[in-house]
Amino acid sequence: MDGSRQNTQAQNAQDTPINKLDLGSPDWATLAQGTPRTDWSLDEVRALYAAPFTDLIYSAQQVHRLHFDPKQIQISTLLSIKTGGCSEDCGYCPQSVRYDAGVENEPLLELDDVIKNAQVAKNEGATRFCMGAAWRSPKPKQMDKVVAMVKAVSDLGMETCGTFGMLEAEQAQQLKEAGLDYYNHNLDTSENYYAQVITTRTYQHRLDTLQSVRDAGLKVCCGGIVGMGESEIDRAELLHTLATLPEHPGSVPINQLVQVEGTPLSAIDTTENFDPIEFVRIIAVARILMPASHVRLSAGREAMSDETQALAFLAGANSIFYGEKLLTTDNPDTQEDRQLMQRLGMEPEPYCTSKQNT
Ligand code: SF4
Repeated sequence: MDGSRQNTQAQNAQDTPINKLDLGSPDWATLAQGTPRTDWSLDEVRALYAAPFTDLIYSAQQVHRLHFDPKQIQISTLLSIKTGGCSEDCGYCPQSVRYDAGVENEPLLELDDVIKNAQVAKNEGATRFCMGAAWRSPKPKQMDKVVAMVKAVSDLGMETCGTFGMLEAEQAQQLKEAGLDYYNHNLDTSENYYAQVITTRTYQHRLDTLQSVRDAGLKVCCGGIVGMGESEIDRAELLHTLATLPEHPGSVPINQLVQVEGTPLSAIDTTENFDPIEFVRIIAVARILMPASHVRLSAGREAMSDETQALAFLAGANSIFYGEKLLTTDNPDTQEDRQLMQRLGMEPEPYCTSKQNT
C-alpha cells in the first residue's frame, strides 16, 4: 500500500463515531417509511446509520415486507469470462496486473463454455447469470464477443448481467440491444475515501458509466465494498450516493472485503473497524434507503457465519451469488447455501416475480 493510502486510513480511524455526530433534527424512526425516494439528505442517512440496532433491524424488515416476499431470495451466478491481466489498480483486486496475487492473465472464454456454464447455473436454480471481465473498458473486438455471449445466455431464458468495466453510451446501447438486462458497475466506497483504493479511474468515471447504462435503458446493479479501512461516515456517504442516484439501482451488492495476499488491501487490519453487526447495520440502512431494490450479499459471504447471513436476511438482504467462485475468490458451495435456505425456510425467487421486478 502506498503512503497516501495509509495516511487516510489512520485519519479515518480517528473520525468521530457516527452516533456522536450532531445530526440536527432527523428522527430516524420517521424515515423508515418504505416509499422509494432519491432525495435523502446525508444527515438522514447518518441518523439511520446511528439508530439503535434492534430498532433499525425491525424497521428494515417492515420496509422489506412492503416490497418483497421475505421468504424469497434472488439467486445470481457469476462467471468470470475474462480473468486477470487488468490494467486498473483497484487495491482489493487480485486480477490487477499490478499486483502479484497469483491470478494468471487468461484469454476471454469461448462462447460455448459460457453457454455450458449458464445452463449448469440455470439447472442449479439461478435465475440471473452475470458475466464479468477484468477490463478497464471493452475494446470493439471484445464487445462483439460479449454481445454474442449476452444473446446466447438471454436465449436460455435467464436474466443477464454484465460487468465489463467502463462503458461509453454506444457500448451500453449495444449491450441493451443484445438482450442484457443488468449492468454491474460498483462505486466501491465513498467519494471521499475512493482515492485510497483506486487511482486509475475517478469516481466521476464511475458515475458517467452508470449514466450511460441508465440512458441505454439497462437496469443498474451498483453497490460497494466495506471493510477496506473506511470509516462509518464513509459507509454512510456511499449509501447516500447510491440512494440519491437519479434512480435507485435495481440491485445493490454489498461486498465485504476479501483480503487476497499480494493486493494492497491485504495489509490493512480490518478487525478494529469492522464486525458482523456493522455489516448487518449497513444492509438494514441500504434496505430502508432503497426499499424496492434487491440488496445482495456478495463477496465475503464465505467468511460469514450462518447466523450473520440469517441476520442480514432479516435486515433486508434478499439476493445472493450462488456458486463456488466469485470471479477469483471463494464463495460458499451451493450445497451449503441450499441447507442454509432450508433451515431458514427460504426459497429461490422465481424469475422476474418480485413486486417491483428489479
Ligand atoms: S476490480 Fe475490475 S477494474 Fe479493478 S482491477 Fe479488478 S478487474 Fe480490474
